[in-house]
Amino acid sequence: MLPLAFNNQFTACLPGDAETGPRRRLVKDALFSRVQPTPVRAPKLLHASRALAQTLGLSEADCQSEDFLQIFAGNQVMPGMDPHAGCYGGHQFGNWAGQLGDGRAINLGEVELSQGHLMLQLKGAGETPYSRTADGLAVLRSSLREYVCSEAMFHLGIPTTRALSLIVTGEAVVRDMLYDGNAAPEPGAVVCRASSSFVRFGHFQMLAARGEEHLLGQFTDFIIRTEFPALTSIADQRERTLAWFSEVCDRTAKLMVHWMRVGFVHGVMNTDNMSILGETIDYGPYGWLENFDPAWTPNTTDAGQRRYRYGQQPAVAQWNLMQLANAILPLVQDPKPLEDALSHFVTVYEQQWQQMMASKLGLLVPRPELVERLLKLMAETETDMTILYRKLADIDQPHELAALGPALYQPEALEGEFAEGVSKWLRDYLSEAEHQGQGASQRKQLMNRNNPLYVPRNYLAQLAIDDAEQGDCSRLQRWMQLLQSPYEEQEDAEEFAAKRPEWARHRAGCSMLSCSS
Ligand code: AMP
Ligand code: MG
Repeated sequence: MLPLAFNNQFTACLPGDAETGPRRRLVKDALFSRVQPTPVRAPKLLHASRALAQTLGLSEADCQSEDFLQIFAGNQVMPGMDPHAGCYGGHQFGNWAGQLGDGRAINLGEVELSQGHLMLQLKGAGETPYSRTADGLAVLRSSLREYVCSEAMFHLGIPTTRALSLIVTGEAVVRDMLYDGNAAPEPGAVVCRASSSFVRFGHFQMLAARGEEHLLGQFTDFIIRTEFPALTSIADQRERTLAWFSEVCDRTAKLMVHWMRVGFVHGVMNTDNMSILGETIDYGPYGWLENFDPAWTPNTTDAGQRRYRYGQQPAVAQWNLMQLANAILPLVQDPKPLEDALSHFVTVYEQQWQQMMASKLGLLVPRPELVERLLKLMAETETDMTILYRKLADIDQPHELAALGPALYQPEALEGEFAEGVSKWLRDYLSEAEHQGQGASQRKQLMNRNNPLYVPRNYLAQLAIDDAEQGDCSRLQRWMQLLQSPYEEQEDAEEFAAKRPEWARHRAGCSMLSCSS
């Protein structure tokens, strides 16, 4: 057996649904429903995160064991686990959708660690009461994308749920990937995710929508006690709830700054996909900005409205926080302090965004005017954002602008009018750096700590998927290794830092993704 000790606070302290099993139903007066994972025929481990395994106290031998495979495929439930699906609601694309819940996620139990705890959760392990009309399963392509990006985000220093294992089930799952009537069987997979808590804004919304005020208070106190222990010293419940809401606003603002820094586009920022801990959660049709375009979204389901485009993420986060504020209003009574916290979100976000942009440029003091001009230039001709910041770090003189060529999709743009703008900007930028006392090496160091070289580019994920679907996981292994040190240049790894090739521009899975997974 694996050396994991469980202490299930969530299911021990909070009310659960009286019925067990996956029969679809609307649940009341409860926060979860007990349900067992569905066994699978022929599980095979494609990858395990050694970094997370270590945190959990699992050795290499543990990861390779038959128990590990059977447990994280959903075939075996360990003593001490208490499998259940969470009940929550949410606003989807701006509209209240009512009860959603874990339709294909099953929480296994909370592992106790020397510092805190981690809930382990299987995604794609079969039906739950919240599966609605769907099957509770996941396919390899979306599972691999979630697995890789969760761990990549962690190593980038960005709050995120983690991923422990990627297992194919040996069973086929039928999906209509592009929603165009061409359903086809695909390999099924299960990912084991981990987070201190998978609670979302939608949990609070669900309780408020059902009018279960007493339970809302109890649940909020539970979350504060287990996930925000520093706030328990505030004796007054109303004050404590307000301090907690401010903290959630703060963490969410910081998360948005991180996403903007690295060019991550979540794709489905519905309130049921917003972590109460301020972590990145639910990797679906996410994408990474390749050419810098604030209007870009990878999610074809959102192609018309582009509600969740890159440049709109901070505003959407604030809108989502407003829905959370509405949900907890009964606990606070007065809307004013909640409104104040929401305005403070904007102040925190803007101030931290400026500081982050300064660091990306290797500056100590923010210079908004320089940033504005750079973003404009980047949008003027197709510019790979990730490569650009790394190349900028190497430039010491305004005339060295040719060094930026590799970041451009049409390097010839560096001749002519565009070049003038770039030269002028470089002159002003380098003289500002000098003025701030940032010598070449200091500037470069600060920049390369804030500008990753390796991010899980959309087309690289597709290449890893293509190989894995053929049974070859060597690219996945190599990539996972590299993504552990995303800020450090590594040997023979150019292909993992290269800009999007032309073939990937319009290929499904590379620049266009649907919610079908
Ligand atoms: P998402 O926006 O992808 O996080 O999912 C929205 C809702 O649909 C959540 O309640 C999910 O649990 C549910 N869902 C998505 N895919 C499936 C599936 N294959 N089977 C059951 N439920 C699903
Ligand atoms: Mg979700």
